[in-house]
Amino acid sequence: MTRRIVNVSVIPGELLDGSGRVCIHLFIQDEQGPFVEMHVLHPVYEDGKRVKQRLEVKPTRGRLVCSLTRTVAPITRGGVTKVTLRTDDPRAVTCLKCLATKECKEILEEVALTEQFGARDTRQEEVQDGSSVGTPN
Ligand SMILES: [Zn+2]
Repeated sequence: MTRRIVNVSVIPGELLDGSGRVCIHLFIQDEQGPFVEMHVLHPVYEDGKRVKQRLEVKPTRGRLVCSLTRTVAPITRGGVTKVTLRTDDPRAVTCLKCLATKECKEILEEVALTEQFGARDTRQEEVQDGSSVGTPN
């Protein structure tokens, strides 16, 4: 039998017995970013207007909000695979460094407003629908 061990970072102060909350970073689009996510949801536009209820998936360059240079490919050493969990849904973020950034706070405010008043067609920011991106392995 082959055992696979996946190492997932836990946020500071959480238990290390498997019950602690894991560290989930916020992924944002950035043309200068250090990696490309293959499956990022984007709104669909026709004639300059956003088409409601339609999203498309495309590879998208970006970065973690808490780092300009960190990459996210799983790294395996000595039978242990270390993964970097990330999401484009700010409500799912637990990384304390990501949460402390101005960008993350702005995106969270945007999401809160959208939930309060419904999706606005004029939005320039692309806050993507719910799902996490790049499920490792
Ligand atoms: Zn982070």
